[in-house]
Amino acid sequence: MNSKEQEDVVRTAAVIRTARKLRGKIQIEVANHLGVSQSFLSKLEHARLIPSSSQWFLFCRFMGINPARTFESGFIDHCLSVAGNNPYPQSLFKVHPRYDFHHTSKVRSVLPFIQYFTAQLGEGKFDKFCEENSIDPDFFRVLDNQLNITFTLDLITTLMKKGVLKRTDLQKLVQPISTPLIHGNLHEDYDQMTGPLELVQCLIQNKEKYETNFKYQLEEKDNRSLVVSVAPNPVLTQFDYKNELLGDFLCQYKQQYFKRFASYKAAGELATIEEKQCHFHGHERCIYEIRAVA
Ligand SMILES: [Zn+2]
Repeated sequence: MNSKEQEDVVRTAAVIRTARKLRGKIQIEVANHLGVSQSFLSKLEHARLIPSSSQWFLFCRFMGINPARTFESGFIDHCLSVAGNNPYPQSLFKVHPRYDFHHTSKVRSVLPFIQYFTAQLGEGKFDKFCEENSIDPDFFRVLDNQLNITFTLDLITTLMKKGVLKRTDLQKLVQPISTPLIHGNLHEDYDQMTGPLELVQCLIQNKEKYETNFKYQLEEKDNRSLVVSVAPNPVLTQFDYKNELLGDFLCQYKQQYFKRFASYKAAGELATIEEKQCHFHGHERCIYEIRAVA
């Protein structure tokens, strides 16, 4: 097997495991449906075998996932908005109770931090982090899974304490924001947009498919600029999101995120961003002005 094939096997195994847990099935139920033995299914889930294409399509139909998109990305994504109740009530993922209330973050919003974590600390370290924090790493292969903001804060705090995430690393952190796959299937919306300001507006429309920790609103717009407000959800007062270590890190991240997103699929920078007022420095909300580069 070459390395591309090996990657396909590992990614497919992860999706099979993840989808089964998502739908609350045990191995024997899935094996019976596919007409294979439980030990065969176990080998699929542990990347020791790859399914035939007919097994793969049968599996995806059974699980209600898209065969082509899921195979390519390794993620399951139904593009749902944050909801008060769990969108997958039958799912079997282990999630520590400290992350399991006020589910205002979708996994989609955590992905840039996970990618950075893996890039900085190495493959396997994220699984270890999950193990130490009692959460199933497969949970993060379902972009519509929900948890509270504490998980993101824990990731940021860990990276800062290890000395691999500083203010000066923000641009590196948001680098992948201009690439399609980090947005899951939402990239199909973004692929149709033509300019930086149109892209940012589309992102704001989709914000609840990422998180509702903050409320994003388009305040003003003209041909060259947009004014966007970002206000904390009242529920955030229960979370330690602007402590001594973090400071205004989340605000800085959002600014860089918007700026990078305005350059979706482009090599250069297509927008500038200026903050007019900041929630982290005494105001009720942050106000950003985003200008297209002439
Ligand atoms: Zn701010």
